[in-house]
Amino acid sequence: MIREETAEFITQFHVYQYAFLKPEESDFSDSVVKGCKKCVHYKSAWSCPPAIVSFARCRRECLSYDGVFVFSTLYESRNDDDGEIRRKTRKEHGKVTDFTSEFFRSKGYETYTLTSDRCSICEKCTFPRKACRYQDRMHPCIESHGIRMSSLLGRCDMDHFFDEGYSLLFTLIFFRKPPAGSETEANMKG
Ligand code: SF4
Repeated sequence: MIREETAEFITQFHVYQYAFLKPEESDFSDSVVKGCKKCVHYKSAWSCPPAIVSFARCRRECLSYDGVFVFSTLYESRNDDDGEIRRKTRKEHGKVTDFTSEFFRSKGYETYTLTSDRCSICEKCTFPRKACRYQDRMHPCIESHGIRMSSLLGRCDMDHFFDEGYSLLFTLIFFRKPPAGSETEANMKG
């Protein structure tokens, strides 16, 4: 049922592709996290390594959910010398991510959300001097959890790359029903 409802919900956004998976279909490897050291965003935000610690804990958290909703948005990145388009698109992608995570919660699911790239909520991240300003809104980056996107996307027949001059951004929303009688379930029932 949630699959059909989500498929209908997502049509209001410019989403390129989407799919549902089981968390255990994700391919976790700490070598992906080690690869973050080569990323330009390494040490630049609370959403990325080394601020995200413990590969084992991250993997355990992801595997504690019942399902994963993965989606991508596509944007034209040619002639984007100063990264302005990318910044704007990240914000747009972030909005779709927030609305969709909220949609799952409105259906009674707990969620845990990861996205491409570093968090871009604030103009300048507080890392490492002060605590994250929006811990409840910030989504860690996918690679910080050791998830190999190439194999995950291959499993659900989604594109990892598009034509030259275009880029894709991804979101993974892990979702599960809270255990009966839990505080979360009581809160959801109001
Ligand atoms: S919400 Fe702001 S402070 Fe927190 S990770 Fe994102 S950019 Fe950094």
